[in-house]
Amino acid sequence: MRQQLHKAQRIVVKVGTSTLIYPNGTINLSAIDQLAFVLADLNNQGKEIILVSSGAIGVGLNKLQMATRPPTIPEQQAVAAVGQTELMNIYAQRFSTYSQQTGQVLMTRDVIDFPESRQNVTNTLEQLLQMQVIPIVNENDAVSVDELDHLTKFGDNDQLSAIVAQLTKADILIMLSDIDGFYSANPLTNPEAKLYSHITAIDENLMAQAGDKGSSFGTGGMRSKLKAAQRVLENDSAMVLANGKQPQIIFEILAGKTIGTLFAGNQ
Ligand code: ADP
Repeated sequence: MRQQLHKAQRIVVKVGTSTLIYPNGTINLSAIDQLAFVLADLNNQGKEIILVSSGAIGVGLNKLQMATRPPTIPEQQAVAAVGQTELMNIYAQRFSTYSQQTGQVLMTRDVIDFPESRQNVTNTLEQLLQMQVIPIVNENDAVSVDELDHLTKFGDNDQLSAIVAQLTKADILIMLSDIDGFYSANPLTNPEAKLYSHITAIDENLMAQAGDKGSSFGTGGMRSKLKAAQRVLENDSAMVLANGKQPQIIFEILAGKTIGTLFAGNQ
């Protein structure tokens, strides 16, 4: 299966805040620059690329010189509104270094349930791809609270990226995180944890191995990644979960190297 990845034509890449923002809250320009380089280069190779990017709150906090995430949802939405424009500015700047056009698509996860919205979003994405523009997708934070309200509905953009992959019938979803892949336990707390290289189906057993909300990384992050993988598998597509510290890793994943965790059927 890994050997097939170089044939992937339509690729959705999802980056989390951990790839875009340093632990001290400032923006990781080198990661963003590398990401722009890699995605623009893949686009030049004739592949179709969609970027799903989190980070609006992180960038907003930095821009507003706030040290911590404010407690209320409206405050977080306001920070996201400031951060989203700044994030897009940074992306547009970096991508333009490589003569690559980008377009912002803000959407909510429920578009999948409303045929008309679903069709509209799909049309927009298809049109952007046809124009060789890289869509940069994020949840519309002003409208939806799923992404923000981690306490009740963990999620990040993991589900959204799987939905985008589904809508666009992408060949692969590359999900970049702050960890090398999916392990048999949270490697931060369990040194015995082993990295899975290939998973063909998500079951209860695997779900139980994903760190839960009670852990110090309390966003339920890994479970939501497994749920995204489940959606991808149900659509007979593939997903690779890998470390986004060096976005150039995307080239290696597509070259078929054994990197991260591949979620794909056995075909
Ligand atoms: P991101 O911000 O990139 O979306 P998350 O913080 O949501 O990432 O999820 C990644 C984190 O999930 C890892 O840093 C790790 O601490 C934690 N985790 C919990 N269980 C597992 C597991 N079984 N395998 C890998 N990581 C796990």
